[in-house]
Amino acid sequence: MFRRPRVAIIGRPNVGKSTLFNRLSGSRKAIVDAIAGSTRDRNETEVTWGGRSFDVVDTGGIQEQAETPLDEQVAEQVHAAIGSADVVCWVVDGRTGLVAEDHFLANRLRSIAERVLLVVNKIDTADLSAAAMEFHRLGFAALVAISAEHGLGIGELLDAIVERLGEGPPPLEAPEETRVAITGRPNVGKSSLLNRIAGEDRAVVSEVAGTTRDSIDTLVELGGRVYRFVDTAGIRRRGKLPNQADRLGVLYAERAIERAHLCLLVLDATEGVTSEDAAIGRKIADSGRGVILTFNKWDLVQDREQAAKELERQARTKLPHLDFAPSLFVSATTGRGISGLGPIMERVRGEHLKRLSTPELNRFLRSAASRLPPRARDGKEVRFFYITQAGVAPPRFLVFSNRSAGDLDASYPRYLTRRLREAFGFEGSPVRVRIRKRRAPNSQ
Ligand code: GDP
Repeated sequence: MFRRPRVAIIGRPNVGKSTLFNRLSGSRKAIVDAIAGSTRDRNETEVTWGGRSFDVVDTGGIQEQAETPLDEQVAEQVHAAIGSADVVCWVVDGRTGLVAEDHFLANRLRSIAERVLLVVNKIDTADLSAAAMEFHRLGFAALVAISAEHGLGIGELLDAIVERLGEGPPPLEAPEETRVAITGRPNVGKSSLLNRIAGEDRAVVSEVAGTTRDSIDTLVELGGRVYRFVDTAGIRRRGKLPNQADRLGVLYAERAIERAHLCLLVLDATEGVTSEDAAIGRKIADSGRGVILTFNKWDLVQDREQAAKELERQARTKLPHLDFAPSLFVSATTGRGISGLGPIMERVRGEHLKRLSTPELNRFLRSAASRLPPRARDGKEVRFFYITQAGVAPPRFLVFSNRSAGDLDASYPRYLTRRLREAFGFEGSPVRVRIRKRRAPNSQ
């Protein structure tokens, strides 16, 4: 099941953990906090890099507020990191160089060495860059030199984190049933829509308890296929708390998205696309699930042709991260358009699970790269060796190159994604493309 990976920042006091944390959270922090509010700790932020999203936790920041001796703090941090983090960024001070406490901490971290990324901070000059090398003595294979304060080496650090996170959440298997999350802000008509879908179409199999505690799913058969609408308890519940309504919408959405294969983002056709819609849309985009924009209350719209155009224009500008999602116009009240839902869900699910063969991918890559040759920032040669599909749900592609992603023009993976869509569709499904450095294969 989908879980956002966690990256912990640890280290002794004054090495620059908070500066690094603030640097990583950047401008997104204000936005994320505004959305997640009380659910998220102040010391936690969401970061997206190279198509991967993860939470960064500043465990050090929490500990330092307490007046506890260093060894206890360290023990606590290590304990927390081992327990919950996929990658541990251990920050050390490159300006002071190696100190006794570093060896102390190194010993404590030995048992999780493969998860540790040694981050030598305060490396702002070429002189200091040599100094970073002495930290190799600590015996950790992965080492990145940065200056959190001046923003140097942050891209490399993020690359290294993403590299260590691997391929991301394990792909969900293709089951006979498709799990669907009905998401959207309050009053767009989610519960009306669910009632319409469940009430009208052939057999409502039953309401069944989901795998998560407290969750109720609704099973519906549409066009010979079983769809499991997940976490419908949250949707059907009435009498929402007035002030928390918006926030609850996001919370319900989060949990439902995690359990789903595809999401209906329900929008109010009479109100257009709002910033809360965009917040939920971003969560869906980050999750890698399939998505269908479902404009509801279509019965209230007068000039439908004009309105459809306008809503699609708004979707393009306000939901740019979901530009691959098809739109459906429905009315939960009259039932109009609801019959289109089954076929569109089946299509999107198919695209989400689509697998391309390596030969067709390599033909594609050759053609895409000749139309727009990749360029490295340093002007040196870029070669692509081959491309392969690393997984489905969502489809993920790896391009092996003589250069790393960080060396290339940052827009190139986006270009390849665009071309992939032109060539192969993937309607309603996210597509991830990563470029990875590899030594040249032996020439024949
Ligand atoms: P939820 O908070 O997203 O679950 O929204 P509800 O399903 O509770 O609907 C909010 C309000 O919109 C209710 O008053 C519904 O009757 C109304 N509503 C929902 N869908 C439609 C629709 O398709 N057309 C019209 N005219 N009203 C709708």
